[in-house]
Amino acid sequence: MDLKNLLKYQEVDAKLYNVEQKLVSSPYKKKANELAQLAKKAQAKSTELENEANNILNEIDDMKEKFSQNKKSLDSILKKDLDSLSVEELDKFALLKGKILNNLNYLEKMLQKCAENINNTLLEFNKTKKLYDEARRQFVECKKKIEEENEALTPVKEKLEKELLTLEKDVDKTLMAEYKKRRNDNIFPVVVPLEGKNFCGRCRMELPMAAISKMKNTGVITCEHCKRLIYQKD
Ligand SMILES: [Zn+2]
Repeated sequence: MDLKNLLKYQEVDAKLYNVEQKLVSSPYKKKANELAQLAKKAQAKSTELENEANNILNEIDDMKEKFSQNKKSLDSILKKDLDSLSVEELDKFALLKGKILNNLNYLEKMLQKCAENINNTLLEFNKTKKLYDEARRQFVECKKKIEEENEALTPVKEKLEKELLTLEKDVDKTLMAEYKKRRNDNIFPVVVPLEGKNFCGRCRMELPMAAISKMKNTGVITCEHCKRLIYQKD
């Protein structure tokens, strides 16, 4: 079987394969994926920080409420006429006053701590937001580069595909079908010459001699290892 036309087809197909590989393995695509992941993480972190801030704010409200309750108790105690109280009552009174003052002191400290916490949370939120914005900005830039690459390579691809359609007409139909099956499985090159007496020209796997003699009739045989079509060079 004459393989000249198929080999000519593969020669043009190699150019198409190159273009396809360029598009698939574009570094911008990889970068865009990484940036999308980064943005997603930053977004999750923002939500987490937002929840944290809300919890702290609730805590602050709670403490303010307790603070005002204690303050009210203190005010009502201070209004009392001390002269009318017995010594025992005065002792009790002093004890209660001390307890309330302690409470107020503690609450004030806690409020201060909460204020610090909320400031830190806010700082971290801003940092995360900046990270997210920067990732988004770079992502958009990457997308633009990918589009530019596509735009530049698409006409080249289309021209080669058209050329292949013409070349295909001169190739044996069964052989073409076998070729395309492998090509769709991302095997390339599809057709490779025999190496030495009985080795696959691509993966160097040793081929059975029975297959080699079969090749003389069929023109090509399949390498069982890499699935490529093997032919004998003139
Ligand atoms: Zn092989």
